[in-house]
Amino acid sequence: MRILTTPLLFWADGMTVAPGLVLLHPRVRGDAGLLAHEAVHCRQMRDVGLLRFWWLYFSCRAFRLWAEVEAYRVSLRYQPGGIRHFARTLSRGYLLGITPAQAERLLQG
Ligand SMILES: [Zn+2]
Repeated sequence: MRILTTPLLFWADGMTVAPGLVLLHPRVRGDAGLLAHEAVHCRQMRDVGLLRFWWLYFSCRAFRLWAEVEAYRVSLRYQPGGIRHFARTLSRGYLLGITPAQAERLLQG
């Protein structure tokens, strides 16, 4: 997994572009939990196929929810006390139409 840092990534801390390419904002360089989160997306892209992944991610709320819940559950392993923060980010940052409380329940499994 190649990791590039750029301040141009202003809308997120990290973004997996392709299975082998992750962009990070310099402020989160070295954040193991975020890298693990992005590694989940790398695996999802390999499993689903890159173009299919992006098509579904942008066109299907259920797919986007599945992809992010799986990745944020891994983030939680690195930062167990961050569930409220992750739930808020999940509910507000991905156009999923869920409340922070619903996101928290999803993250808890
Ligand atoms: Zn994600």
